[in-house]
Amino acid sequence: MTAKDISATRPEWLKKRISLNNNNISEIKQLLEDLKLNTVCQSAKCPNIFECFSKKTATFMLMGNICTRNCAFCGVASGKPEALDSSEPLNVAKAATSLNLKYIVLTSVTRDDLPDGGTRHFYDTVMSIHKFLPQSKIECLIPDFKGSITGLEHLLLSKPDVLNHNIETINKNYGLIRKHADYKRSLDVLKNTKKINNSIITKSGFMLGLGESIEEVKTLIYDLKDAYVDILTIGQYLRPSDNNYPVHKYYTPEEFDEIREFADSLGFKYVVAGPYVRSSYQARDAFVASTS
Ligand code: SF4
Repeated sequence: MTAKDISATRPEWLKKRISLNNNNISEIKQLLEDLKLNTVCQSAKCPNIFECFSKKTATFMLMGNICTRNCAFCGVASGKPEALDSSEPLNVAKAATSLNLKYIVLTSVTRDDLPDGGTRHFYDTVMSIHKFLPQSKIECLIPDFKGSITGLEHLLLSKPDVLNHNIETINKNYGLIRKHADYKRSLDVLKNTKKINNSIITKSGFMLGLGESIEEVKTLIYDLKDAYVDILTIGQYLRPSDNNYPVHKYYTPEEFDEIREFADSLGFKYVVAGPYVRSSYQARDAFVASTS
């Protein structure tokens, strides 16, 4: 890695502290443990966990926590995943019901080992939640399923409210830090979603601080607009461990504002940008704003 590493010199605006010992969070943790479920909120020690849980929003990570890919910026372990847990779709629905969630985000590691990439598992989980919590809104934050249109069509038959697929970074970075993914294929996932179901809300997001120029960021935003994306999330890359790709730059809140204003000027339905923004940050608010 040749880039200058500034990961250890976190600026003031990125010093939010989190503690996962709050009573409410402990109860939620216990419930999830009993049902053998993972949330990204806990696994990634997300700094927004209290805000999201208090707004009745949570992000479940389906199909285990071992990914078949190994993006250099990602904190998820890479390797050979375990077999699918066929009771997971039902257990997610049970947990969502117990927590009385209003907005549920379903995501997963990439499962290139599965013939369908896990599309059926997503489908089953969405259907299960519809049955238990018909009023809740569901967002699927999906991997690229190796570009399978059939898999995407199958998943969309379950009628999630939002289909999210993160582009993560600029095109140039793909060969370097997102080796098993493909920039165009990811854009196609988003485009194909709208082609299959024109009324679904689509969403994507990326991180800043991975060695991009402002021109490259603008090109990325144009590409997402051309892919018919409705909601855009833009956040700061924070290095999950010393083994991950170094942080190249910490963007100031003002720089985030400028980039958000640029994206807004292109006509996205909703753009959220800031140092602490993550893909699922204020997910329900973004959905409501984009549909009102
Ligand atoms: S595919 Fe997704 S979960 Fe897997 S390593 Fe890359 S970013 Fe992380």
